[in-house]
Amino acid sequence: MNGTPLNGLSVPDAHAHGVPGADEQVFRLWNIGDPSCVVPENVFFSAGIHPWDAGKYDLAAFAPLFDSPRCLAIGECGLDRASDAALPLQIKVFEAQIAEAVRRGKPLMIHCVRCFPELLRLKSAFAPDTPAWVIHGFRGTKRKAFDLLDAGCVLSFGAGLLRDAGNMEYFAEIPLDRILIETDESPELFDRILAEAAAMHLLPPSEFASIVRANFERIFRHDPV
Ligand SMILES: [Zn+2]
Repeated sequence: MNGTPLNGLSVPDAHAHGVPGADEQVFRLWNIGDPSCVVPENVFFSAGIHPWDAGKYDLAAFAPLFDSPRCLAIGECGLDRASDAALPLQIKVFEAQIAEAVRRGKPLMIHCVRCFPELLRLKSAFAPDTPAWVIHGFRGTKRKAFDLLDAGCVLSFGAGLLRDAGNMEYFAEIPLDRILIETDESPELFDRILAEAAAMHLLPPSEFASIVRANFERIFRHDPV
């Protein structure tokens, strides 16, 4: 089952994997991690080298994808201590993608696992000239969340909001203009994530939805309709 717009509202899913359904009703930013992928027409996407694939692809091969006006972000890219790729190589590949994002004026869709100090170091090295850094699938402590927010990052929340609800009671304190909602690998959870997030912020779903939509439009410079 695909997610349907909550209460008929158009709310974008900031990060999704898989294949767009023909009857897709939610605007999703699909992730493309393979440069040979042929993106269906009318699909908007992020494209880049995942830290698990550092060393697997040549970044130059992504240029035609990056050139597309339907490519709204560079990534997902980033750093991951659980990856088989050596961290120095991951950093090199990530830095190249940061440079690409800066050059093209497109935001970064970031995957970060147990590398937040390294990420923050890179952020301060490249700030303030870079477009938005979106931390996708954020989960973790309040301290980690606010370190990232203080550095100017945007946090994209997904199923972690449901599973880790007990650890994310601080979600209500996250500034509303820094929140995106995503499904990552679980498109069917869209409505639940959105409803939960709105409830935690004590907002009617319709109001929360229009805030998330405005954030998406501002960050990705695209009206998700
Ligand atoms: Zn992902």
